[in-house]
Amino acid sequence: MQNRVYEPEKCWVGEEQKICYSTREEAEMAARVAEYDHGVSGLTVYKCEYGDHWHLTRRKS
Ligand SMILES: [Zn+2]
Repeated sequence: MQNRVYEPEKCWVGEEQKICYSTREEAEMAARVAEYDHGVSGLTVYKCEYGDHWHLTRRKS
């Protein structure tokens, strides 16, 4: 593979593509940034069931 694509790794979870975070810390950091930058609240970090990485999900109130 010659072309290194600087795109976050993603995987399909249900009907949407989610960004994969390799560590829980990385995912938590991204959640905090999203909360701060975009006012997104209630983001939860969880381990992907399809691979060895983590995702963010929005808790439904
Ligand atoms: Zn995944």
